[in-house]
Amino acid sequence: MVDDAGDAGGTGVQDPLDLLIQVQDLDLELARLEHRRAALPERRELVAAEAGLRQVDAQVADVEDRRRVLLDRQGEMEAQVAALSARHRQLEDRLYGSRGSAARDLQALDAEIHQLARHRAEIEEAELAVMEEQEPLDAELARLADERAQLETVAGSLRAALAASDAVAQAEITNVEHARGVAAARLPTALLDHYEVLRARLGGVGAARLVGNRCDGCHLELPSAEVDRLRHQPPGTVVTCDQCGRILVRTSA
Ligand SMILES: [Zn+2]
Repeated sequence: MVDDAGDAGGTGVQDPLDLLIQVQDLDLELARLEHRRAALPERRELVAAEAGLRQVDAQVADVEDRRRVLLDRQGEMEAQVAALSARHRQLEDRLYGSRGSAARDLQALDAEIHQLARHRAEIEEAELAVMEEQEPLDAELARLADERAQLETVAGSLRAALAASDAVAQAEITNVEHARGVAAARLPTALLDHYEVLRARLGGVGAARLVGNRCDGCHLELPSAEVDRLRHQPPGTVVTCDQCGRILVRTSA
């Protein structure tokens, strides 16, 4: 008996309630298609790939921060080495330009030059250590760049696949929306408005079939006397379910 109403589509339906149940079926179909479009597997996979990209970007930023700290330290050391070298040259010039000075002064100058050279060598050694610390970070950055490139390739294919699937899904939705628009335009305005208010309030279902003694909207049995009363209303009379308030459509039973 449910099929009768379904098969009636487009075959010169006159009863507005039969038309209304068609509109309801199309609205449910639209909701199903919208849900399926939102849940396209490519969309989910793309979200995961993009999350992966953000994670790699965060890792890159972290490694680059650590690398920058080392570079700063290296820069400071290079400046120290340059200052010590300049001082070293100054002292050497003084040493070679001071032939008449006392032996004790020359000794002190020589000692200072040696001390400076030792200090500079220490800093240069520390600078080498800092440069070595950078090596694993550079390797990590290269690895992350590879990982990112792979993820970007995957994300790129997913974007293309999603665009294609989404276009197909959208085309289906547009077809059903069109059919719904045509059917809804043939409904009396008051009935359509009543249906829209109920549909908005009752989880997308404003009209339901009376299947046997059962309301197909709330799936509750109606008392037999009530069903009898409803079935004897003249065709086209708008009746609602006592339990859920939805418009009940009596199909030929
Ligand atoms: Zn009901």
